[in-house]
Amino acid sequence: MGKALIIGCGGVASVAIHKCCQNSEIFEGICIASRTKSKCDALKEKLEGSTRTKIETAQVNADNVGELVALIEAYKPDVVLNLALPYQDLTIMDACLATKTHYIDTANYEPEDTAKFEYKWQWEYREKFEKAGITALLGSGFDPGVTGVFSAYALKHEFDEINYIDILDCNGGDHGYPFATNFNPEINIREVSAKGSYWEDGRWVETEPMEIKREYDFEGVGKKDMYLLHHEEIESLALNMPGIKRIRFFMTFGQSYLTHLKCLENVGMTSIKPIMYEGREIVPLQFLKAVLPDPASLGPRTVGKTNIGCIFQGKKDGKEMKYYLYNICDHQECYKEVGSQAISYTTGVPAMIGAMLVMNGTWKKPGVWNIEEFDPDPFMDALNKWGLPWKESFEPALVD
Ligand code: NDP
Repeated sequence: MGKALIIGCGGVASVAIHKCCQNSEIFEGICIASRTKSKCDALKEKLEGSTRTKIETAQVNADNVGELVALIEAYKPDVVLNLALPYQDLTIMDACLATKTHYIDTANYEPEDTAKFEYKWQWEYREKFEKAGITALLGSGFDPGVTGVFSAYALKHEFDEINYIDILDCNGGDHGYPFATNFNPEINIREVSAKGSYWEDGRWVETEPMEIKREYDFEGVGKKDMYLLHHEEIESLALNMPGIKRIRFFMTFGQSYLTHLKCLENVGMTSIKPIMYEGREIVPLQFLKAVLPDPASLGPRTVGKTNIGCIFQGKKDGKEMKYYLYNICDHQECYKEVGSQAISYTTGVPAMIGAMLVMNGTWKKPGVWNIEEFDPDPFMDALNKWGLPWKESFEPALVD
């Protein structure tokens, strides 16, 4: 039993908060703190009465370490679950260090003015967290998150050595809009318009954005085009999977999304460089975010399924083998349960599970850790229990 401070009250946070409230044996209390307090209050009002978890709310600017420290000292949580934006990771980690509180997030730090996706800034906190005796669990969403847990599980139970990992993220959902993103538009567009890359033979191989395309037949969804992207878990898995030769990440996109993205890029709307507009500085991508549908509003109108997982190839007892671990999630079932679409759901559930495992001591280990560095078994059990059951196949179709 313990208390969690949850920072952010957007699409992902809303699911994690619903799940903490379903899990009130562990989450005795939560404080929802975000920039816009009215959103926290609205969610508290919706949930109170249906849970034994005691809910409090607070306003906080998570860019400000002093404000965060004051809030942590006042609420005294056992863990801080960061579900704001990647820009806030370091300030929240600083506040956790100052107050000796465990830290969990779902996305690696990005400086707001440059689209750089690296763990180096957060890994620099390793010694400080170790000395303070507190745990930082990085990347407890789906990808990163469950994909790292799947990798650790495959290595522990099915392989002596994993040589190839293909992470496949398929969203077969249809929200009926010509263009909308299923998580924060600014973060999503930064990710998909960046150069692609994959890890091969000990080094990064860079590609042009969306240069590499493959088709895959996804169970529950059907055939989809998917594109190779850079993705943050490749960086940590390359270090933590002994014997690894190649790791790639593919995500599916529909033609309408790609056509709109191309047009928006061509006219400069996805740029993160500030421009002057009517006497004030604006960032084109932030302006675009303001006019796009809020991902949290897609829940009622999104139909179809997601299928996200990892295909592993490697050796067991000297023999070559392949293995696929994946989850299929239905947008409308998620909406019925927690009022959100499946992308928020597949991220919010693992965020709650990560916070639970750190809080109840199962995964407590001073230092800064990526998720695949922990024993995967309790997390795999919790996925089945809390709404993201996984499936396995020993004869999957391979990507090439
Ligand atoms: P949203 O934009 O829906 O929510 C972000 C929330 O953070 C909002 O409530 C926002 O407040 C709040 N926030 C932003 N800046 C601050 C600040 N300075 N101080 C306090 N609160 C702030 O995003 P999502 O829920 O879609 O995404 C949340 C996180 O999850 C992101 O980091 C994203 O990268 C990550 N993610 C991870 C995935 C994974 O599988 N690992 C998949 C999808 C997302 P306000 O309401 O005022 O704007």
